[in-house]
Amino acid sequence: MVDAKPADIAYGDISQLEELIDRDSLREVCRSFFDLFGLSIRVFSARGVLLASVHEERTICRYVNSLTRGRVACSETVAQAQMLVPQGSGTVVHPCFSGAVYHVVPIRYDDRQLGRIIIGPFLPADVNEVPNSLLTLDPNLEPERARLALAEMPRVREQTANRIASHLNGVLELILFSGHKAQLTSAMHLATVRENYRELGEKNARLQEAFDKLKELDRLKSNFLATVSHELRTPLTSIIGYSEMLEAGIAGELTSEQAGFVETIRSKGELLLQLISSLLDLNKLERGQLTISPEFIDPRAVLAEVRETCLPEAEKRRIKVELAWNDDIPLVQADPVRLRQILTNLTSNAIKFTADHGQVRLAIRATELRVATAEDDPDDDPADASVGAALMMAPERAVEFAVEDNGIGIANDELDKIFDAFYQVDGSSTREYGGAGLGLSIAKSLVQAHHGQIRVESEVGRGTTFFVTIPETQPDEA
Ligand code: ADP
Repeated sequence: MVDAKPADIAYGDISQLEELIDRDSLREVCRSFFDLFGLSIRVFSARGVLLASVHEERTICRYVNSLTRGRVACSETVAQAQMLVPQGSGTVVHPCFSGAVYHVVPIRYDDRQLGRIIIGPFLPADVNEVPNSLLTLDPNLEPERARLALAEMPRVREQTANRIASHLNGVLELILFSGHKAQLTSAMHLATVRENYRELGEKNARLQEAFDKLKELDRLKSNFLATVSHELRTPLTSIIGYSEMLEAGIAGELTSEQAGFVETIRSKGELLLQLISSLLDLNKLERGQLTISPEFIDPRAVLAEVRETCLPEAEKRRIKVELAWNDDIPLVQADPVRLRQILTNLTSNAIKFTADHGQVRLAIRATELRVATAEDDPDDDPADASVGAALMMAPERAVEFAVEDNGIGIANDELDKIFDAFYQVDGSSTREYGGAGLGLSIAKSLVQAHHGQIRVESEVGRGTTFFVTIPETQPDEA
């Protein structure tokens, strides 16, 4: 089961500045402000992460840093400026002992403070003297040198500094906006994907549930079918046996009317028995419980027997059933009972779906078969094997049976459905042909159990031919 968390779209939430902003673009912006106004700029996130820094060490700074006390005082001043967090939306001015100042400008977006910009150091325009705090900083400081160095510091009017800060803030706001937009888009995309994934998970779980239920139902159906069929078969065998005894006159001579009734009881009983056997076979095949016992047999003998079995029905309807083969027919390794079952099924269908006075032809020929080997995909259905795959396989000597009729034929779009269990082309309750739609499905499974192939060619109104190809030898299962 996939846990079904609700989609969490955090698009209202603005996260850290460092996540919203592209650092390269930010550095570019700071660089262009530096080039334009000559002021050092540093940008910090609310958590104090330095995101961009463009600055130049001033002559006075370099000089102060070369003095022991100066160095200490300088780093303290810079550290304090960097740690200063403006509380409101206004700029905070942080003074340096040199008379210069730093402007600490808050970065605000959507009513939240996301960080700060430090501009400076620069000299306010109104500072003209070297302040005492600088002159008394270090005993080794040379006042004249300090004065000259300080003169190189950029001078900016308070107003100008504020304007520069507000421009910079405006540009930053634009970058933040586009970053926020991108974040929103990706958050929404993520949420959609997550929602789709969750839906898919739910559907999958429902599908699995339905599949499990179906499997259970299938198992119950199989058990039910096996029990019912078995329970029906025993009394039915008695019914058939007793009708045969009655027909044989064991219980006394029957009038012709009585004989007719008994004959109906027997033949309907036999039909029912056939149906029950088919159901049992299908059940066994579906559960993989049906095994074949192959032996070397003469295919001609099998086909001749099939003809004999089907002949009475054909003769009733004046349908000719002819046999056709050459002398070169080899023995095949097959289960004689099951092979007879396959061919009887096809032949009785051929007779059933052919008009009176029609023709059925039962033929055999030696051929070759390309069968999937054990290394091939076990899911591959040899009967449906694609031509491309079949060409890759080594050919095997085989025998092909063809059951051909000139009956009603089968429409093209029905050809691959007729092998499904219970499928009949005309499935209506008023259909004129008997049967339960199980014969071909069983025949196909039995052919597959022989590692063979079954296929059909047909034309509506002209007739149908079923081809069954069985390899001469069965692979050694051991
Ligand atoms: P059924 O018991 O109905 O014969 P099958 O599985 O043997 O069941 O056949 C399925 C369906 O395929 C048949 O109902 C029929 O519609 C069609 N069919 C099979 N063989 C032929 C054939 N020789 N000619 C025409 N239709 C056929």
